Amino acid sequence: MAAVLVSAPDDNRAKPTMIVAILGAGPAGMSCANACLSFGLTPIVIEQSNQIGGIQLGNFHPNLWLLGEPEETGREMSERMARHFATLPLTCLRDSRVSRVSGAAGNFTLEVATPSGKQSIHADAIVIATGTYPRSTPELDALAAQSDRVIVGPLSESIRDDIRQARVLILGGGDNALDHSLFLAERGNQIRVCTRRRFSARQPFQDECNTNRLIELRENCSPDDLQLEDDHIVATWGAIKVRYNWLLAMFGYLPNTQMLTCFTPELRPALGQGGHILVDVWQRTSVTGIYAAGDVTDTPQPSVPTALAQGLVAARAAERDAEQQASSILI
Ligand SMILES: Cc1cc2nc3c(=O)[nH]c(=O)nc-3n(C[C@H](O)[C@H](O)[C@H](O)COP(=O)(O)OP(=O)(O)OC[C@H]3O[C@@H](n4cnc5c(N)ncnc54)[C@H](O)[C@@H]3O)c2cc1C
Repeated sequence: MAAVLVSAPDDNRAKPTMIVAILGAGPAGMSCANACLSFGLTPIVIEQSNQIGGIQLGNFHPNLWLLGEPEETGREMSERMARHFATLPLTCLRDSRVSRVSGAAGNFTLEVATPSGKQSIHADAIVIATGTYPRSTPELDALAAQSDRVIVGPLSESIRDDIRQARVLILGGGDNALDHSLFLAERGNQIRVCTRRRFSARQPFQDECNTNRLIELRENCSPDDLQLEDDHIVATWGAIKVRYNWLLAMFGYLPNTQMLTCFTPELRPALGQGGHILVDVWQRTSVTGIYAAGDVTDTPQPSVPTALAQGLVAARAAERDAEQQASSILI
């Protein structure tokens, strides 16, 4: 066991506590770390960005799925959670990434690249809570790198603040594409939404868009070419060229599992068809001692409440599994 020695307030003898390395500090990772402390475990959180709070930091809409603060936006909610997280007695490495994970349950070693250099961390268990990232294409990534007017994925401050009275092309056919069309139509923008096949967004979104004179929904429609010209995006369909002020790509999300290539092969958890990490009801992956929580898993309803609950369960599972392993060794 990669233990640290601590003294509990009611116990003068030093006793080892179990170390849980948590990758990601969104709702799932923060909740897991908080629960680890409740269960007497020692969490070490590794976050790749310099911000704590996860993907909801960019959400300027109220969170309708979390009871308690109906007016609070996703960003305000994340900031509130991050403030609580900052008060917890734990180690959190920001701007940090694992570069190698090896060992086995009870004795993992994580090599971590941090702003102050490489660190080697020993952990008894690992919880992967790395969430998702917006799906894109190399062509769109290249355009987005050249122009701020090409945005990949929803939830950006530019979308909230800058896009007004403009011509906007949205690529994508799901809820995010149509939700953003309605939001932008309220700000006087003229929007064309193109999806390669049929719209998969919920019917109420489709009905509302269809009755909005500023929104045009086009199925089986994908531009043949996209180019930047001056301050515009020129989309081509056959012989027709149309100039837009903004291009938004909303193709859904993919799980953040790239870091698994740094895990030794026997430590790589099994993935589902969509690339999400497969877990059981205890958030256990296919690898003993490695758990996963939140959107990186094959969760049926990704949301903040779900991620919070899964983080909590993962912490409890890590504690419970270690206890069971210890008692089976004693027997
Ligand atoms: C457009 C949109 C709207 C949504 N609206 C709502 C809503 O209204 N209500 C609601 O409840 N839910 C909503 N959700 C879902 C909600 O945002 C997610 O379910 C929730 O954020 C999942 O939390 P998470 O901790 O699993 O992942 P995330 O919030 O994505 O956090 C993951 C964290 O891991 C970090 N990370 C990634 N890779 C690594 C790595 N290799 N190493 C270390 N750290 C890493 C990231 O930087 C991030 O901080 C929405 C999602 C989207 C996309």
